[in-house]
Amino acid sequence: MRISVKAPAKINLTLDVLAKRPDGYHEVEMVMTTVDLADRVDLTLRGDDQITLDCSASFVPDDIRNHAYKAAVLLKERYQVPYGVHLYIDKQIPVAAGLAGGSSDAAATLRGLNQLWGLDLTLDQLAEVGAEIGSDVPFCVYGGTALAKGRGEKIVHLGAPAPCWVILAKPPVGVSTADVYGQFRLEHVKQHPDTRRMLRSIEEQDFSLMCQSLGNVLETVTLNLQPQVRQIKELMIASGADGVLMSGSGPTVFALVQKEAKVHRIYNALRGFVKDVYVARMLGSQEREILA
Ligand code: ATP
Repeated sequence: MRISVKAPAKINLTLDVLAKRPDGYHEVEMVMTTVDLADRVDLTLRGDDQITLDCSASFVPDDIRNHAYKAAVLLKERYQVPYGVHLYIDKQIPVAAGLAGGSSDAAATLRGLNQLWGLDLTLDQLAEVGAEIGSDVPFCVYGGTALAKGRGEKIVHLGAPAPCWVILAKPPVGVSTADVYGQFRLEHVKQHPDTRRMLRSIEEQDFSLMCQSLGNVLETVTLNLQPQVRQIKELMIASGADGVLMSGSGPTVFALVQKEAKVHRIYNALRGFVKDVYVARMLGSQEREILA
């Protein structure tokens, strides 16, 4: 028996850090949404109780360091599952890019195993297991659009933002989330994103208000580490993007536009500068994601 599950990338429409917690984590507030740039996770029931994994990208780990593998191990332990699984990840989302590719693979694995192993768990139960793997995994379990709080694991579901195109560009450098948070100083933040205004823009499906409300407090840190991020942002703005922001801890930068003609202009301008450029649509709501 074999099933395939999509694992969409996420982008941050906002990312704010509210405080540093005594446990070393940061208290965050983020508005996140999924886009139709996705990995595919194939799950095949094994004849034994082993967990094995292959990935189309050879540099991605194929053992317990892989978030999808870890998800399978945790779910099997937690619910004492007697079965095994072979996981195959067809990698389309760039790695270490700020797009939660690994987290989304883990979430897709949890959703797929729930079906393959006949566990009948709720998304809330799957998200709880996901939180042990990484802060972005619970959001990826639900997908759609949400406000994430706490370490990122507390999810408030939101409606779909105004439909638009998303052009993503990743400079040829990987950025470690730990390094970026390591260099982040809350007291140096000059301007926090207006999360409430972003929430209003989503509720009203107001595209220009959404573009005006984009904000990410980690951007300055990554811009200093990787100057190419700034160049990509500037190029996107010069090519007519309505809104531009770095996603997560970067280095991927995305542009939002509503007019299709602008998509081609921005895509072509970027392709002359970086290789990894993608055109996607926002998935918006959970329902659309399941149908995608
Ligand atoms: P986030 O936005 O959640 O911080 P990211 O997009 O910055 O995620 P990932 O692509 O998830 O980063 O990869 C981060 C690291 O995790 C990589 O260095 C990679 O070796 C490891 N990793 C573990 N599992 C996976 C996976 N399934 N796909 C990609 N990377 C993975």
